Amino acid sequence: DLRAPLRSMSGYSDLLLEEYAEGLDETARLYLERIASSSQFLDRLLLDLLAFGRAARLEIKLESVSVRQAWQSALMQCAAQIDQTQARIESPEAAPWVRAHEATLSQALANLLSNALKFVPAGVQPKIKLSAEARNGRVRLSLADNGIGISADQHERIFRVFERLHGAGYAGTGIGLSIVRKGIERMGGMIGLTSAPGEGSCFWIELPQASEAPED
Ligand code: ADP
Repeated sequence: DLRAPLRSMSGYSDLLLEEYAEGLDETARLYLERIASSSQFLDRLLLDLLAFGRAARLEIKLESVSVRQAWQSALMQCAAQIDQTQARIESPEAAPWVRAHEATLSQALANLLSNALKFVPAGVQPKIKLSAEARNGRVRLSLADNGIGISADQHERIFRVFERLHGAGYAGTGIGLSIVRKGIERMGGMIGLTSAPGEGSCFWIELPQASEAPED
């Protein structure tokens, strides 16, 4: 329902651009293009807010989840972005199991991966590595990138809704990391990062280790 008026706005501005192009001068066309791109952005914002609402409400049933499987699903979700950026991606050698909710974990990994692919300096090939380490009954998943990095005083802020540090050069709504944190906390896990400007970032997630799920 929220999205319907938006569809109408962008539909009519597209119609004007297509069918009345001859009667429009350069400035009118520019204004219409701005209407179209603003309504696209608002649509993205609505979709992300709806996803945030779902992450907060969704019934979460914890079970044994294979890290390898959740990572494969995250790679699939980001396939187009991986192709576009020609990124080099390393997957973990160890493949532990964690106590989690599979869709929530894959979504979290996909959001982190999508950011790692996006926040690189222009012209730089993204190099991303996921590692998995089990210790004292917990598993730590670390996603390291070679991106622009984040100064230490901003590490807490970026997990809040709508907070963006690099708005100018990179598209986004500032909701992705809030969805990740909400999901990880609801699974009883922890999330954090180490990062500094110009030195890349490493986001980590910690979850309880689980025994391998029995084959059905
Ligand atoms: P979005 O990606 O839509 O901007 P997020 O909530 O996912 O929103 O991220 C919030 C902000 O955190 C981003 O706008 C960016 O400034 C910073 N950020 C997130 N991931 C990274 C990363 N891997 N490298 C550098 N900055 C990042």
